[in-house]
Amino acid sequence: MPTSVVIINVHGIGPHPTSRPLDPGEDQVWASIEQFERALDAAVGRDDVRITFDDGNASDVEIGLPRLLERGLKAHFFVLAGEFGQPGRLDVAGVRELLKAGMPVGSHGWAHRDWRRLSDAEAEQEIGEANRVIGEITGEPVTDVAIPFGSYDRVVLTRLRRAGMRRVYTSDGGAARPGEWLQARNSIGPDLDAAWIERVYNGKASPIVQARRIVARRVKRLRGAP
Ligand SMILES: [Zn+2]
Repeated sequence: MPTSVVIINVHGIGPHPTSRPLDPGEDQVWASIEQFERALDAAVGRDDVRITFDDGNASDVEIGLPRLLERGLKAHFFVLAGEFGQPGRLDVAGVRELLKAGMPVGSHGWAHRDWRRLSDAEAEQEIGEANRVIGEITGEPVTDVAIPFGSYDRVVLTRLRRAGMRRVYTSDGGAARPGEWLQARNSIGPDLDAAWIERVYNGKASPIVQARRIVARRVKRLRGAP
C-alpha cells in the first residue's frame, strides 16, 4: 500500500440540475463530463489515487458509475440520508445499484448542513440517524463519513469520534495517509485542466501552499468551544 495517496472528490457532474437549486458554492465543485472523464483517466493504473463522491447526486449513478466501471475504477460514495429520492438526488434504488457494483457507501450526513453549526438534536440526526438509515441499506454499520463543505472544528471531530467513525474525509486538499483518521481530499470542479491534474495528482503544490495547508488543518482541529 502506498504511504501517501491523493484523494479526488467528485460532486455533481454534467449539466446543472434543473430540478433543484444548487447549494451555495456548489457551482465551484460541479464538473463537466469531460472534466470528470479526464480526472478518471488520470487515475487509471495509479494505486496512489483514490476517488470519492459527495452529495448523493443523481449524476453519481447516471454519469459517474458507468464511467468508473468502464475503466475498472472504484470509488467511495458519501450520500445524504435525508435527501434520498429528492429532485436531482439519488434514491434508495440508486444506492443499491452502487453497492451491487461493488462501490462502498458511507455517510455525508442528513440534509447537507454545516456541521459546525448544529444543535445537539441536529447533530444526532446528521450523524446518528443518517448512519442508521444508510446502514440499513448497506447492511452494515456506517464507519466512514465525509464532512459536508469540509467544515469541521474540535466539536465536530469529538462527535464523530464518539459515534465510532473509523475514517473521516475532509476537503482540506493535498495528500492523505491511508491509515490516518482524517483523510484530506481534493474537489474537482470547473477549473480542472491538465495543469490541475499535474499539480494535484503529482503533489506539485508550491511549498507555500503546502505550509498553508498544514497550518489550516491544525487550526481546524483545535478551534471551537470544548
Ligand atoms: Zn457536500
